[in-house]
Amino acid sequence: MTRPRSSPGPAADRAAAVPPECAAGHHLAGARVTTDANGVQHARCRRCGCDLTRLPTLRRWYRSGWLGGS
Ligand SMILES: [Zn+2]
Repeated sequence: MTRPRSSPGPAADRAAAVPPECAAGHHLAGARVTTDANGVQHARCRRCGCDLTRLPTLRRWYRSGWLGGS
């Protein structure tokens, strides 16, 4: 049995789906923003759907894990 369709994998699909603004780091946080005990805000990008993090000292949203959280 052979599968007629060959896919490059889900990773390639996700990379292609990221809008240029998000690829450049300009994410658009959704309406639901939560703040944890450390004052760090968390939201979800309305364009690419990734999890975003914003520190109190920064005025930009970053993808979670970008700052090397874990
Ligand atoms: Zn985004």
